[in-house]
Amino acid sequence: MQQIDTIDRLREVVRAARAEGNRIGLVPTMGYLHEGHLSLVEAAKRQADFVVVSIFVNPLQFGPSEDLDKYPKDLERDLALLTQQGHCDVVFTPTVQEMYPTPMATSVELPELAKFLCGKTRPTHFQGVATVVSKLFHIVLPDVAFFGQKDGQQLAVIRRMVKDLNFPIEVVGVPTVREADGLAKSSRNVYLTPEERAHATILYRALCWARDRIAKGPTSGRELSDGMRKIIAEDGVGRLDYAEVVSMDTLAPIERLEGPVMLAIAVYFGKARLIDNLQLTIENGRIAGS
Ligand code: AMP
Repeated sequence: MQQIDTIDRLREVVRAARAEGNRIGLVPTMGYLHEGHLSLVEAAKRQADFVVVSIFVNPLQFGPSEDLDKYPKDLERDLALLTQQGHCDVVFTPTVQEMYPTPMATSVELPELAKFLCGKTRPTHFQGVATVVSKLFHIVLPDVAFFGQKDGQQLAVIRRMVKDLNFPIEVVGVPTVREADGLAKSSRNVYLTPEERAHATILYRALCWARDRIAKGPTSGRELSDGMRKIIAEDGVGRLDYAEVVSMDTLAPIERLEGPVMLAIAVYFGKARLIDNLQLTIENGRIAGS
């Protein structure tokens, strides 16, 4: 595995790999890697020949009062994990100066998708994500890029950006990796106190309640979101941001369940804001594949 921190060198190395006939895979991350990230890298190795993992804490996607300065970092450990796993060919670790040598005059925005869910409390977040992912796409020119279903709104935003702007890139959504008790793995779980950690499973429990409710027979977006909110309120520790049932395509709340649907929750636990979701396809009121 090579570690590269300049755009020019990365382009050179990827160009050479492509010239040899390799299919290029890209896994964008902000580092502090865990099994969730590693499952993306594993998927990349299965579906591409040459895997680039980027580690970059992107200032553009943090709001002024968010955790940019405190965001956990451990590059040595990240490099050791990637080396041990053996699937990453190049790890790209640019500085902020390398990615943004001058203040950006350009940005990529998807206001129709960013106005829902996390976009309500993080109004500039998806603009920052879409802009940096679009830069990474132009720098690496991957054939295929991997994103976690864990960040469901991000996945929908990237899919839409790729479609709207005709990026010749396949986007693969990788299933969420969870702790044994159901909590979705996240770099931000380190912010939780032991008591908050014990209660943080409430997100997944509320989502599973909603999925089971759908399986039992006809229901509505309203019934499911009210039920999830009630479960989180009754647990009493986390502070609800949102619990919604939305279309996976538009991210708008829906009443009638049909097609690709996302059950999505965000809850504050002290300093941490945790998100989780389940993505289901509903056909004639039933969960497809169940
Ligand atoms: P981050 O470093 O948090 O920006 O995440 C980088 C990528 O890893 C994103 O595409 C995330 O959706 C994905 N990811 C984060 N946590 C998980 C998880 N628990 N399971 C699967 N993918 C994840």
